[in-house]
Amino acid sequence: MNVLVINAGSSSLKYQLMDPQTGDVSAKGLCERIGIDGRLTHKVGDNKVVKEIPMPTHGEAIASVMEALVDAEIGVIKSVSEIDAVGHRVVHGGNKFADSCVIDESVIKGIEDCIPLGPLHNPANLLGITACQKLMPTTPQVAVFDTAFHMTMAPKAYRYAIPTEYYEKDAIRRYGFHGTSHKYVARRTAELIGQTEFKMVNCHLGNGSSMAAIMNGKCQDTTMGLTPLAGVPMGTRSGDIDAGVVQFICNNYNMSVNDCLNMLNKKSGVLALSGNLSSDFRDLEDGAKNGNADCALAREKFCYEVAKYVGAYAAAMNGIDVITFTAGVGENDGGVRAAVCEYLGYLGVKIDPEKNNCRGKEVKISTDDSKVQVWIVPTNEELMIAQDTAELVK
Ligand code: ADP
Repeated sequence: MNVLVINAGSSSLKYQLMDPQTGDVSAKGLCERIGIDGRLTHKVGDNKVVKEIPMPTHGEAIASVMEALVDAEIGVIKSVSEIDAVGHRVVHGGNKFADSCVIDESVIKGIEDCIPLGPLHNPANLLGITACQKLMPTTPQVAVFDTAFHMTMAPKAYRYAIPTEYYEKDAIRRYGFHGTSHKYVARRTAELIGQTEFKMVNCHLGNGSSMAAIMNGKCQDTTMGLTPLAGVPMGTRSGDIDAGVVQFICNNYNMSVNDCLNMLNKKSGVLALSGNLSSDFRDLEDGAKNGNADCALAREKFCYEVAKYVGAYAAAMNGIDVITFTAGVGENDGGVRAAVCEYLGYLGVKIDPEKNNCRGKEVKISTDDSKVQVWIVPTNEELMIAQDTAELVK
């Protein structure tokens, strides 16, 4: 089976053509500068082709993807009809979507209704969907929501302690993000440890970071909230912050709330703590090794907050059996993993420094006598989207 996975942003669009059973990717690529000029990067195995193609809208971008996929030289299929289904990443499913679903008019309407909750992403996701519907009118399209996995949270986890009207009228609550990644890692971890009933904390640590408390495969709590700003500090996002800080900064600097939130989303996090040196953990590691105290503090603060949430979730679930690390930092940065686990000795967490000295591989890094298993489980959001899509259209 061939599933085309689409992740449409406002000016870019990522795609992968994959077999959901094997996870084999026959082609993948990226359309960039949509609405500006347009560039397609198409990869088949180790071969990469870059083409400048006008892309005034997402329609031309998707059309260029189709052309590349069926091209005599760089293509991997003979005809677009060989694409059995399309799976779309949709960022915000609000209160409406607790699972992936086949796209029809009511689903489109539902995604539109969630635009106030995901004003940057949902409109772009919709552009990707409608462009595919036009070019492949008979091919089933599936929406896979970043928020859906977290819909199993109980009210005590998802409600904010603010007046009820904001929840009832405006659907303001904790939603959480990276759900497709958390779901993939939870399922894969169950396979790896050969159990289905266990308590885990998944640490998705990348440029954007979130953590999820997962019991028997179901999300109990997660660090991000109504928006992806909440939780641990990230590359450029502050993470959790006293709302009073917003008032203070707006008043003192005559700043609008929008500008202040822009600062908290784009100019904060480890970037800010490092003295604006970098949001990339590799640069921070180099900086810290060369004696830059700001870089060291940025990494220290990050690891401290991640460890605090593991502790909070151990309390929330009355114990944990497994900790998993995933995404760019979680999969690659052994120093971050070691520093986080260092705090968790009281839970019986013990990692083996030699096993931890690896990157991007599925590997158990805890010692045999550790009370909690610790794993690196590389995420694969595209595969999860393809598998959900296949399940729904079969
Ligand atoms: P996102 O999907 O949120 O943009 P990723 O999950 O791709 O982010 O993670 C990107 C981050 O991963 C980079 O900012 C970088 O700090 C970190 N990263 C990638 N490779 C390494 C590495 N080898 N060592 C340490 N950190 C790394």
